Amino acid sequence: MSTTKHNWTKEEILNIYNKPLMELLYEAATIHRIHHDPNVVQVSTLVSIKTGGCSEDCGYCPQAARYHTNIEGNDLMSVQQVKAQALRAKSGGSSRVCMGAAWRNVKDGEEFDQVLEMVRTINKLDMEVCCTLGMITENQAQRLAEAGLYAYNHNLDSSEEYYKEVISTRGFEDRLDTIDNVRKTNVTVCSGGIIGMGESLEDRAGMLVALSTLNPQPESTPINALVAVEGTPLEDQKPISIWDMVRMVATTRIVMPETQVRLSAGRTQMAREGQAMCFFAGANSIFAGDKLLTTPNPDVNEDMEMFKLLGLNPQKPFTKKVQPQTVEAADSKFEALGEKPKWSRPKHTIERNETAKERAKVIK
Ligand code: SF4
Repeated sequence: MSTTKHNWTKEEILNIYNKPLMELLYEAATIHRIHHDPNVVQVSTLVSIKTGGCSEDCGYCPQAARYHTNIEGNDLMSVQQVKAQALRAKSGGSSRVCMGAAWRNVKDGEEFDQVLEMVRTINKLDMEVCCTLGMITENQAQRLAEAGLYAYNHNLDSSEEYYKEVISTRGFEDRLDTIDNVRKTNVTVCSGGIIGMGESLEDRAGMLVALSTLNPQPESTPINALVAVEGTPLEDQKPISIWDMVRMVATTRIVMPETQVRLSAGRTQMAREGQAMCFFAGANSIFAGDKLLTTPNPDVNEDMEMFKLLGLNPQKPFTKKVQPQTVEAADSKFEALGEKPKWSRPKHTIERNETAKERAKVIK
């Protein structure tokens, strides 16, 4: 029986986060060893299947159409292109492919059908398939599950309070609703956030309260360090220190003992010593490949060298849960409903988002 606690409070989490570092590391590493093999780290590859031109206003994101960044957008990739990238990822040691599309939400139609075909194709390569496509309905989650999706990523990004300082085009509740829709299927949940956006320690703890009080907790939690991209509202944020990252990873490990804690964006800013400390503190997953959607990432060879140096082994696919079965499109029990769900549009004003938008208008 799981002994995972689901009623963490912000105060309890802050007390953990602020412990003397050696105590925090020891506690996190001890919990990590009870639930995971400390020498095994999952390697995932992120493929941006549709880049840029997004209608949302996420303050950290260079893919938002309203900001002027150096991102080259592309339409939805073909199934064959994605398959080729997945095979390359597999030969580089990846056990999971995460496909990201810069969409506010999924719309039923040809493009979603194409994504479902990508899911079928990669699952048949015996790799874990994850998608991050924006908000989805229960029916869309069921269709993804039927195609063989292993995980759905939908980050909470920050605390509910600070979320309003970063995004105005949808609400925190919409995030929870999508996670809820995924939970109605067999697909696992991947949800985490970003630190270094100017949030307080209380906000970091608040985000961990929101994630850890989900029952069940997410099977995977990415901890991203903001990569401040020129042209985005958060372009002037200073990189966070490695100590913040280590504390956040260790705290996540303690409050979510069974979750795979994922080192995500911001790894290029971290020396190997820092990454090693994160693995010791409970991180057991990384994203590989030279790009994370649109921001830089260490290349696969560098990562494999680091694994060798630290005596780490890549996790085999389907270690934590059995491989889902793929149902072919012709045999599907679920049809496209063409739903038009009313995801919220709070549209409150975020000063720095407005400034970045106005600046972009002048440049464009
Ligand atoms: S984070 Fe996702 S939803 Fe937000 S602007 Fe970027 S692509 Fe769009």
